[in-house]
Amino acid sequence: MGTMLHVAVWEADDAVATASLRAARDAVTRLDSLLSNYRADSDVTRVNGAAGSGEWVHVAEETADMVALSLEFARETSGAFDPTVGPVVDTWGFYRETGAIPPPAALDSARALIGWQRVEVARDPARVRLPAAGMRLDFGAIGKGYAVDAALAAARAAGARRVMVDLGGNIGVTGGGPDGAWPIGLRHPRYPELPFAVVDLQEGDAVATSGDYERFFVHDGVRYAHIIDPRTGWPVQEIASVSALAPNGTISDVLSTTLFVVGVERGCALIADLPGVAAVWVLAPGVGETDTPLRAVVGGPAAHRIEVGSGLVVSTCDDAVR
Ligand code: AMP
Ligand code: MG
Repeated sequence: MGTMLHVAVWEADDAVATASLRAARDAVTRLDSLLSNYRADSDVTRVNGAAGSGEWVHVAEETADMVALSLEFARETSGAFDPTVGPVVDTWGFYRETGAIPPPAALDSARALIGWQRVEVARDPARVRLPAAGMRLDFGAIGKGYAVDAALAAARAAGARRVMVDLGGNIGVTGGGPDGAWPIGLRHPRYPELPFAVVDLQEGDAVATSGDYERFFVHDGVRYAHIIDPRTGWPVQEIASVSALAPNGTISDVLSTTLFVVGVERGCALIADLPGVAAVWVLAPGVGETDTPLRAVVGGPAAHRIEVGSGLVVSTCDDAVR
């Protein structure tokens, strides 16, 4: 998945601790081997390679689960989250480190390949089919959160009671932390060493952050980053980061990306009725705006659990919709 895994277990029994750490790591390794876009032999790479051939590709049950779940989230977010956005991400070059604004014709043909509604998934046996050549599945916006949930479940099954899993900034916990709670610092989108906020994770909670600092390029002073609005094919430019607190890792990962795409106003409406969910948007500074404090918006039913530090100008979803 192109990132680092960090698992912490608080446990008196050495054997249980070791078994739990291994189980967590194995669960993530297993999903990585199925879902990674970086591996030539993963289920996802094989499905993408067969796109447009008419052939069904046999996959592991977990892969079919991931596809079905992603399509459900795509439906629920009206396509703001879309696991088929890959060809457009590729056109912008974020993963090649040679990013540039694509020629309109290239962008148009890549956009024509987006469409979660066209992904086919079936069971007994588990299989997936993409109808058009060039279509691709990309679980970059959900896979890490999903793997956090799998790692926590595996560690629990191996006997651990107090576990924290951090997979590239997707953080999930089970049981109480070393001092009862799990205060997690959220990374400032411009000063990585300074958390700009703290969120209190409780049993089963997870938090994920999507940022414009992860994969991006700058052209004429404008930052183009890796989260794409599937309706336009263009990177979202108004947001620097979104952190989402949710009852599990999968939802927090999907939400961080989705809320980045839909922005503050639609995002506030989207999470208003989701129990246990909270989000904080950090708005992108304007071009040349380097000395002004960044603005943050906090919202969602669990908003009280996110505490933003004094370095930012904070408002709430209530202010935003008023
Ligand atoms: P995250 O860091 O979880 O927000 O995931 C970002 C990654 O998800 C990007 O690098 C792309 O591979 C992919 N992606 C970008 N835009 C979208 C989108 N609108 N829906 C789903 N995946 C996306
Ligand atoms: Mg995400």
